[in-house]
Amino acid sequence: MTRRGLLARLLSLGTPLLGAKPAEAASPAADPRWQLSDAQWKARLSPAAYAVLRQEGTERPFSSPLNGEKRAGIFHCAGCDLPLFSSQAKYDSGTGWPSFWQPLAGAIATKVDFKLIVPRTEYHCKRCGGHQGHVFNDGPRPTGKRYCNNGVALSFRPS
Ligand SMILES: [Zn+2]
Repeated sequence: MTRRGLLARLLSLGTPLLGAKPAEAASPAADPRWQLSDAQWKARLSPAAYAVLRQEGTERPFSSPLNGEKRAGIFHCAGCDLPLFSSQAKYDSGTGWPSFWQPLAGAIATKVDFKLIVPRTEYHCKRCGGHQGHVFNDGPRPTGKRYCNNGVALSFRPS
């Protein structure tokens, strides 16, 4: 193979990272009662929620009504209804995604992904394994964390 041919090949391998990504499975459910098949998840969820929760997709910024939600209450996993975040830890990060500086205790688990080449810490609902978002180290006090969440992966219950 020529140098040029090799370069073209490498570039073509990189393309999916920028555009349509190949489907990726969500994390395994910690609770055996939530180890549903792909068909069962598809039947339970809207197409948009399925793409985020089960294929680790990302919704468009500023697309979720929960981004501007300011009432007191609890944000639940849209997959299995586990409470994940309190409104007390929500803040306006300006990113266009609902953002929190802390999850509820024991609600989420994390893993490192390399979808954007640079490693990022993915997090998901601990009970059903559904993908929620990514956590970054540029959040406000007291934790300094920013849990950047897809709104479509949450349901909100005002208290
Ligand atoms: Zn869940």
